[in-house]
Amino acid sequence: MSTLQNLQQKLELIKKENKKLNIFLELRSEKELIEEAKRIDERIKKGVGGKLAGKIIGIKANINVHGMKISCASKVLEDYVAPYDAFVVSKIKKEDGLIIGMLNMDEFASGGSGETSAFGPVQNPSAIGKIPGGSSSGSAAAVAAGFVDISLGSDTGGSIRNPASHCGVVGLKPSYGSVSRYGLIDLSMSLDQIGPLASDVSDAGLMLSVIKGKDEKDSIMDNNPSVHSPTTHPNKKIKVGVLDISGLNVEPEIRKLFDEKVEDARKKYGFEIKKVKIKNIELAVETYYPLVYVEFFSGTRKFDGRRYGKKIEEAAGPEVLRRVLGGSEISKAEYKGRYYNTALKVKKIIGDEFSKAFESVDCIILPTVPRLPHKIGERISVEEMYSYDALTIPANLAGCCAVSIPSGKIKGIPVGMQIMCNKFEDEKMLKIAEMFEKI
Ligand code: GLN
Repeated sequence: MSTLQNLQQKLELIKKENKKLNIFLELRSEKELIEEAKRIDERIKKGVGGKLAGKIIGIKANINVHGMKISCASKVLEDYVAPYDAFVVSKIKKEDGLIIGMLNMDEFASGGSGETSAFGPVQNPSAIGKIPGGSSSGSAAAVAAGFVDISLGSDTGGSIRNPASHCGVVGLKPSYGSVSRYGLIDLSMSLDQIGPLASDVSDAGLMLSVIKGKDEKDSIMDNNPSVHSPTTHPNKKIKVGVLDISGLNVEPEIRKLFDEKVEDARKKYGFEIKKVKIKNIELAVETYYPLVYVEFFSGTRKFDGRRYGKKIEEAAGPEVLRRVLGGSEISKAEYKGRYYNTALKVKKIIGDEFSKAFESVDCIILPTVPRLPHKIGERISVEEMYSYDALTIPANLAGCCAVSIPSGKIKGIPVGMQIMCNKFEDEKMLKIAEMFEKI
């Protein structure tokens, strides 16, 4: 299929379904898109098409795409137009990916359900009436609905993997420091990574190969070996670590589905299965939030109503305000070194635990989300909402890579499983994920 045909098919679908699903916040003009698709097809014909030629792409609304609104799904930045391309966006354009629009999300990436967007919740195309997960709600839903081939999301504590799991698609959080965040409006600078969502591991891997790489504008990339040298693939018998999640509150049906998957994989590939225990993993959620609150508060000081958009305290929704106010309080109390510093220490301890575990296994696997998605609009407590990420946050604290792939359905709702590998072993993780995907 040509790029133009692919585009036209998708635009058709979007016209029919976007109102109901609320996935795109902004679409480029049809005329412009058609012209660009034709240009890409010409390049393909001449044999000079880039790696993403033919692919239709959507971008989460917290990543700068020149000339498009980067609203972060917030009233604060509702009319703010991106003045430049994020590093990842310029890479996509160079490889002939056709970016068609900006995707809905939780406001400022603060949420796990897709419901905190100031422009209304995203529907889950794979389970209508249920939340799609978040915060990259639109990015996962766009792939599930067939609106795009690949999308970009951002993941602070699970925002790529969580919606991927609920919508039945693949979502990949790269190792911390392997993809530049230049041009991302981040939630928490010490945890965020941009990553791809797609309908299979191969497309997610393709996008990762395009967006990763050194960028002098993002200083966290300084010591990243994978940018310079490819990671080796496993060729010996793969040792799979199954994470001990007995101390965490995971719904029994999700546990059961996961256990069946592990058994199937063992039978099919002869994987050596080992139990892995990470000490203090039950503290992950409590460790994560002080870090996010403080770093988000500090990052939002530029939204003061003079430089960018409206003043955040006056225009943001309740979840964002909770974080801004909470972050301000923690920052004030910080002279005692009590909260942020303690959280940093626990982050380090959990990270070290994972490094140790990866000495004896190739990967660590676990379910992606501990519970099934709730109905859109159903009231759940803040604690319940935060606990959706109990299984995804550990990878962010440790800085390692993690991918969620579909592992089956419960009551007709997609459920995902995660494969984690050590920092900068993203390539190896993709290989293993492809094996699980085939089961
Ligand atoms: N749900 C988590 C939060 O609200 C994760 C968000 C994210 O990864 N951006 O912080």
